[in-house]
Amino acid sequence: MNRRVYLNDEDIPKYWYNVKADVPFGFDPPLDPETNEPMDPEKLAAIFPKHLIEQEMTLEREIPIPSKVREAYAIYRPTPLVRAIGLERALDTPAHIYYKNESVSPTGSHKLNTAIAQAYFNKDEGVAKLSTETGAGQWGSALAYATKILNMDVEVFMVKISLEQKPFRRRMVNFFDGKIHPSPSSLTENGRSFLSKDPDTTGSLGMAISEAVEFAFKSKNVNYSLGSVLDHVLLHQTVIGQEAKKQMEIVAEEPDVLLGCFGGGSNFGGFVLPFIPEKLKNEKLEIVACEPVACPSLTKGEYRYDYGDSAGLTPLLKMYTLGKDFVPPPIHAGGLRYHGASPIISKLIHEGMINAIAVDQEEAFNAAKLFSVVEGIIPAPETSHAIAGAIRYAKEAAKLGEKKVIVFNFSGHGLLDLNAYA
Ligand SMILES: *Cc1c(COP(=O)(O)O)cnc(C)c1O
Repeated sequence: MNRRVYLNDEDIPKYWYNVKADVPFGFDPPLDPETNEPMDPEKLAAIFPKHLIEQEMTLEREIPIPSKVREAYAIYRPTPLVRAIGLERALDTPAHIYYKNESVSPTGSHKLNTAIAQAYFNKDEGVAKLSTETGAGQWGSALAYATKILNMDVEVFMVKISLEQKPFRRRMVNFFDGKIHPSPSSLTENGRSFLSKDPDTTGSLGMAISEAVEFAFKSKNVNYSLGSVLDHVLLHQTVIGQEAKKQMEIVAEEPDVLLGCFGGGSNFGGFVLPFIPEKLKNEKLEIVACEPVACPSLTKGEYRYDYGDSAGLTPLLKMYTLGKDFVPPPIHAGGLRYHGASPIISKLIHEGMINAIAVDQEEAFNAAKLFSVVEGIIPAPETSHAIAGAIRYAKEAAKLGEKKVIVFNFSGHGLLDLNAYA
């Protein structure tokens, strides 16, 4: 038996999968924060390209992937699906455990799947530069790579405390010729206002979003780009689940449990959404989002309209939220520290199609340690929440003597996160 299931270049998906076409219910639209009415797409056009706005709204099932985007994907896709034999043996479980390895991308995580797509559609509409925020730095470095290969520029606002804690992510952005600023910065009006209120602030994702959005609004030929949460971001990530489905067919196994870690919902959604048609046929398929106990949007949040940022500038999204003013404690999985959640995943949870569990830092850390030794990849702190979830199910299967098939998404490696583990 081979541990890895590889696909060929022609198996790179030809379209992104839109789950909205297949579920028997509708989704609540984003609301304009000024009028509380559904957002007028024209207003979004100030900072997003027309194609991405269309993708945000469309009910079409299959959105073709442009050939240039597929070519860029081919640098690292299709990614392998791996049978975690070492983990199965360590847990002495009859369960079969598989993981989809998105850590093989040039910047080490799944984020490039949407970074390339977003840069492409912006460039296609004549935009020369993107602005964005980044927390732990994975998104900033992915967008820097994507803009580099498409001959564009990028301006990244990185939460000040993270930039100090994760200097190598800053170096990676610079390496790909991106500009990066500690946020709050004196570059924007919002940044200067945050600084005048508290010159020693460590910054937050909310502040960084306000800066990046303002920067795009006020600059000519600059658009804003977001790395998670929004529907078009999850759409781009569905290449993960489409490949994984094909790979599970090759090994002739049907998943009983699908898991992913959950920050804003992009790696989780990208992995599980292509399996929703199976879920509609087979109630027993379990789909589980693994979030940190310290930032429990899905397990403790309310399902309601809320702002995407702390300043209250963005459209209102219907989602599970801890409130826009929630400040998560400084857990080390920086990429999971978001007060809200993807509206698509929130709705599927609300409809009972997806479950959520919360994993504490120690359980996640222990899972990461075990996985590193028996499978040979140091996971990102975010990813270790999905591993911990898979281990829970594998232990349960061992107790009951069940041959469950457990598949999780391995969203990224932790080679630049060793400070957090220390
Ligand atoms: C950003 C990130 C996450 C969390 O973001 P999602 O949008 O929830 O996927 C998880 N894992 C890794 C490796 C990340 O870089």
